[in-house]
Parts: sequence; C-alpha cells; structure tokens
Amino acid sequence: MAKIVNPDQEKIKYANNRRILHLLIKRRELSKQEISRITRISITTVAGNINRLIEDNLAEEAGVADSTGGRKPMIIRFLPDARYAFGVDFASNHLTASNKIKVVLINLDAEVRDQEIFDYNKFSSINEIMYYLKDLTKDITERNNIRVKNILGIGFALPGPVNENKKILELAPNLAASLGMKNVNFKNYENLFPFPIFVENEANAASYGELMLGTAQHKHNLVYLSINRGIGAGLIVRGHIYKGNNRRAGEVGHMTVASNGVLCTCGRKDCWEIYAASGALIRKFNKQSERKITDTKQFLEKLKSRNPDAVEIWDKYLDYLALGINNIILSFDPHYIIIGGEISEFNSMLIEPLQERIFKNNSFYGRSDLQILLSHLRKDASLIGAALLPFQKLFYGNNKII
Ligand SMILES: [Zn+2]
Repeated sequence: MAKIVNPDQEKIKYANNRRILHLLIKRRELSKQEISRITRISITTVAGNINRLIEDNLAEEAGVADSTGGRKPMIIRFLPDARYAFGVDFASNHLTASNKIKVVLINLDAEVRDQEIFDYNKFSSINEIMYYLKDLTKDITERNNIRVKNILGIGFALPGPVNENKKILELAPNLAASLGMKNVNFKNYENLFPFPIFVENEANAASYGELMLGTAQHKHNLVYLSINRGIGAGLIVRGHIYKGNNRRAGEVGHMTVASNGVLCTCGRKDCWEIYAASGALIRKFNKQSERKITDTKQFLEKLKSRNPDAVEIWDKYLDYLALGINNIILSFDPHYIIIGGEISEFNSMLIEPLQERIFKNNSFYGRSDLQILLSHLRKDASLIGAALLPFQKLFYGNNKII
C-alpha cells in the first residue's frame, strides 16, 4: 500500500527544518538543547534535523559546551563553506566606459570567495560569452579546490524583463545590439555548466540581495531602484519579489515623464531613463562642455570640483530623478526606496538634495513617512543577489516570487 503523506505534516516538518537551519546560520554555534529551547521544537526533532545537516556537511560537531551539571552538551557549528554559488552580472558597468561583466563566487554567508571581471566588447555573441563563462567558472572552481557537487548553481542578473521559469531574457535594449540580447533562452546553455542556471532581472536580483543581506532585512516592503545606463525597479512586497502578470513589473525606466519628443532605446519617447539614468549625465555634459567625459566617475569628479556645467546638469538631473520617484511612491507607498546601481556612488551629494526635492510641497508624503536610502550592497547588489538565487531552495524551499 502506498504511504499516505499528510501535506500539513510535511509542511511542518519542512518549516521546522528551515527554522533550525536559519537559527544555526544566525547564531553559528549552538547545542541541540539550546536550539530546542529557542525554537520550541522537541529535542528529538531537533536531533533528527541536526543529524541530517551533519550528513549534508552543512554543520559539524564542534566540541562540548560548559555545563552546570549532568552530561555536557555537544556544540553544533554551521559550516558556511559547505556550499557555493556563482553570480554573474551583465548589467553593471562599474563606473567605467567599457562594458564589463562581473563574476563572483560566494559561500553560504554570501562572502565573496573569488571574482573576475571581463570586457564583453571582445565577444560578438551571447554564445561566445557563455562558452567563456563555462571555462572561467571551471577555472575558479579548480583554483579554489571546490568540489563541483557543492556548487548549487550559477545566477545571472540581466538588464531587461526576464521570465525566470522559462529562463528567457525577453529584451535588453541597453545591451549591445550586436550581442543579440533579445529573447535569449538560457535553457540552451544549461548543458554547458555542471550545475543549474538561474536567471533574474537585475533590479529584482538586487532587491533580493538587499532583502537577504542589506537594508531591507526587517521591513519588507520596498522599491529598489537600479540606476545605471538604464533604470529598473525591483518591487518587494512583504518579503516577496512582485513580478506581475507578465513578469514585467518594475520597468519604471520607461515611464513617460516629459513631452520633449526624445526617442528612447525602447522605441517610445521621453522615458524616465533618458533623463534620470546615469548615462544622461554624460550625454548632457558632453553636449554642453568643451571637455568631453566618457564615464560617470569622471562626471562625479567634475561635480566634486564644482565644475559649473556639471553642477547645472546635476541640479536638473535630480529634478527628474525626484519626479519619477514621486510617481513610484504614489503608486506603491513603500517602507523604503533604495537607490542602487552606479548612481549610488554619488553618496551624500545624492540623497539629501533628492529628499529635499521629493518632499518639497508634497501634500501626500513627508520625510517621516518613508525612508530613501542608498543601497547597502551598492553597485554589487545585483551581482550578489544573482549569486544568492541558487541558495533559495536550500534556505526557503520555494522561490520568493509572487
Ligand atoms: Zn523607453
């Protein structure tokens, strides 16, 4: 006779298992008795779960604790280097003029164990890049003496709408057209790697990173704005990434914010990112000034040295940035607006003047109603978020997407 599985019991079993693992990750070392006391899970269940974690090499016995009497309890220690994951960020340009792809290897504590950065201009197709990544991840795995079976996957942060189930990047207007970044099916590359592939929109990946490790760990409603050469938003609702009916929510960079007739890479006119993405600063500066610049970092230097053109452009830029953020606040009423991407490098020159504009003459919101913050993980948020995707199953069992 087939064994009847009670779904509720399975759920409870699973929830206990995750609670014990999360507690151990947080506290690092605990005895089974302490785990049982804190979680109020029976000592027998705790012992069974701990045995499984030890079998999976996620924890080890680490000597005995002091005891006030009776048998001394065994200390159980979490092992963060039990599993690894790769993250790849196609989106960030790391304040440089050239187009970079960054690859990172992290452990279960999201500590970076190794990283590489390379220029994608030397490749003529996404195929070539994926083959290069195949060799690169193999090298990184070998030089760190990591067993392939302990790598849970490779996560990609991609600059455009992504269907994470079908593993398709639908469109990437800001990536070089020569790479053919339209309807890229990452399932075609699954056989290249000895571990699973995960894909996510870069702003969603970054917001996931912030949710797991950064600013948003306690309050769980936020809009993460990734401001690079384009603008994307990751929407977190009660701790879940909200993606919407067609999984395209958060394409806020293409909200119409003006009526000047300026054409966007998406084919529409006067999209927010034309005025408020970091590329706008370079474009406007080069139009206005004799001395040309090639990247955002150079603009930041001009601004710091109070170059009059840079100061004037920055002032107007902040007006547009505030305009879009106000629309977002009115739509979502979040706990936090978190600003990431390369614009977060502008630090204090950004946040205070931006808040001033957002809350000035604002009859709906005041400063105490929400927080506008810089990304905790800064320009690496999407990269780290991508690398965390393969850990989702281990930590949560299901992905946190609604
Ligand atoms: Zn557009």
